[in-house]
Amino acid sequence: MLKKELGIFTFRDLLEHFPIRHIDKTAINKIRDITSQTEFIQVAGTLTGIELIGDKRAKRLVAELKDNTGYLELVWFQGINWVQKILQEGKDYLVYGKVSFYNGRYQISHPEIELLSEATAEGKNFLEPVYSTTEKLKAKSLNGRQLGKLTAALLPQISEKDIPENIPSTILQKLNLINRFQGYCDIHFPKSLQNYEAALKRLKFEEFFLAQIRLQLTKLKRHRSSKGVKFEKVGELFNNFYTNYLPFELTGAQKRVLREIRTDTAQGHQMNRLLQGDVGSGKTIVALLCMLLAADNGYQSCMMAPTEILARQHFESLQHLLKDMHVSIRLLTGSTRSAERKKIFEGLLNGSIQILVGTHAVIEETVQFKNLGFAIVDEQHRFGVAQRAQLWKKAEVPPHVLVMTATPIPRTLAMTAYGDLDYSIMDELPPGRHPVTTVHRYETKRASVMDFIRTEIDKGRQTYIIYPLIEESEKLSYEDLMQGYEQVKSFFPEPKYSISVVHGRMPSQQKEVNMQRFVKNDTQIMVSTTVIEVGVNVPNATVMLIESAEKFGLSQLHQLRGRVGRGAEKSYCILLTGSKVSNEAFERIKTMCATNDGFAIAEKDLELRGPGDIEGTRQSGVLNFKLASIINDKPLLDLAKYYAEQVLANDEELSKEENLPLKNFLLSQKGKTAWSKIS
Ligand code: ADP
Ligand code: MG
Repeated sequence: MLKKELGIFTFRDLLEHFPIRHIDKTAINKIRDITSQTEFIQVAGTLTGIELIGDKRAKRLVAELKDNTGYLELVWFQGINWVQKILQEGKDYLVYGKVSFYNGRYQISHPEIELLSEATAEGKNFLEPVYSTTEKLKAKSLNGRQLGKLTAALLPQISEKDIPENIPSTILQKLNLINRFQGYCDIHFPKSLQNYEAALKRLKFEEFFLAQIRLQLTKLKRHRSSKGVKFEKVGELFNNFYTNYLPFELTGAQKRVLREIRTDTAQGHQMNRLLQGDVGSGKTIVALLCMLLAADNGYQSCMMAPTEILARQHFESLQHLLKDMHVSIRLLTGSTRSAERKKIFEGLLNGSIQILVGTHAVIEETVQFKNLGFAIVDEQHRFGVAQRAQLWKKAEVPPHVLVMTATPIPRTLAMTAYGDLDYSIMDELPPGRHPVTTVHRYETKRASVMDFIRTEIDKGRQTYIIYPLIEESEKLSYEDLMQGYEQVKSFFPEPKYSISVVHGRMPSQQKEVNMQRFVKNDTQIMVSTTVIEVGVNVPNATVMLIESAEKFGLSQLHQLRGRVGRGAEKSYCILLTGSKVSNEAFERIKTMCATNDGFAIAEKDLELRGPGDIEGTRQSGVLNFKLASIINDKPLLDLAKYYAEQVLANDEELSKEENLPLKNFLLSQKGKTAWSKIS
């Protein structure tokens, strides 16, 4: 029964079925204090008038609880025989439960009830645990309190031997944490609130700490076992480009990240690095410099983008940057003609092509390199882990992999979910950027919004108008878009204005043409679904109008806004919504208006949605902690990470005396546990 309903198989599971709250037996309310606002209440009084009402089917047991301020009705629909047996009229009881209002009276149905004398007996804990349970178990009278009785019976039978310490004692001392056995006892049956909190802190830390140790061990193992190509030197190409062709001074963050990558790729193990950078922080140039580093060491590199438009843009801007240098760079996408394709395949095999830019086409089986040494995945969230793995198979020694995110992932998440990847961060925008001014407007103000856009266009600027699209194939959104397009046309009539449209149902050729017209400033307005979300660079565009902005997620809004503010002119993002906006959507919009900082937005996103829903982390499982929360217990997580790193930095094998408990614990986790079956 326990097994099926709660997944409790062993004593250990029972111990780890932590209470959801505690009832303080000393906090007894008066019946008079119950109001229509009361949810749960604990009262004490004399039981009177126990009575069975109704016929066979609709039978119920009612009783009255009376204290010196009033009466409360208690009612049972199930387990009546059993309840009838244990209840004694005229005795004093302690009662806890959810208050409802029925037939003009307050009542509690299926209350938790026990003799007052027992509940508050000398020497007993006043904080009683309550556990989550199920309706079925409740019907067998295994309610939240009864489950506690099982646990209470179990605890005296075990000792420190059964729950051995697994955190090095120096850490326990430094952080003032109680030992593990004590933690397990006090999380269930604390003597005081302080005891409970100490137990909670200890067990939360343990969860974080073990997760961090495991991630770090994975990372270490990979570093030790994976052979990687070694970039021994910074050579001619890199230096020449850096001194003569770099169009701007690198930001401090760009330099730091380059140093991190440089150090990592010189070690002889394979690099797997996540580069987190806000929109517009200048990841492309970092990618280019890495590829030049590879070329200097005689290796080829490739860069993958999620869409054809983006791949082409990358290709063109890289080509432009490299125009006076002798570096051979090619573009490969789904629409590359077969004659060209053949030439590219040849060049890749004989090594005459040094850099390949492209879409998914790059990782197809048919694409063979002579010696691929560096692979870059841009705008990571559209690429699966499997596709990344495919990259590793492109060379005998797997190439270094740099994954660049489109939008920041909250630091806390990255640290827990991607802790086994190396991690670089660019939290600095190039100088001279004006932050984009973001405003929220209701649809009723559409005409004045359009007037504003007109003044911008008349100044020579361009505008994006974005419609929501949940699925590319969704018919409704498509119709929305086309209706929107007609509406935009009525505000901006031809021939004075011209408009590009791009959407997911369009053949890619046509998408490309329409996009290019906007890039070349042949059209002033780009009406689009979110297909342009990622990466495109049109510095002359200064307005981003987002229709039905309430339907977009935070990271998507931020990503879209990142399309403007790329040039010298002041830029604007207008979030247009209907009059009905949910609280959560309103929070998102408020956040967008308040900040341009992608990292702050990512944290807010995490707070609003919880860790389970953040892109790319859904299946990772590493976020499923029983007690700890990466949102609410962030300081503890930071500590856990710090100490896990310390431990492994000093003792990679965990073979030192003080780390043996930890090592033994990890070993014991591999299936063979000393716990016997319960049911
Ligand atoms: P993202 O990180 O979003 O991919 P990009 O690499 O597209 O950003 O860079 C955005 C813009 O900033 C580009 O036009 C690029 O030329 C410019 N840029 C990048 N680094 C610098 C820098 N250090 N100083 C000035 N401009 C820069
Ligand atoms: Mg980019």
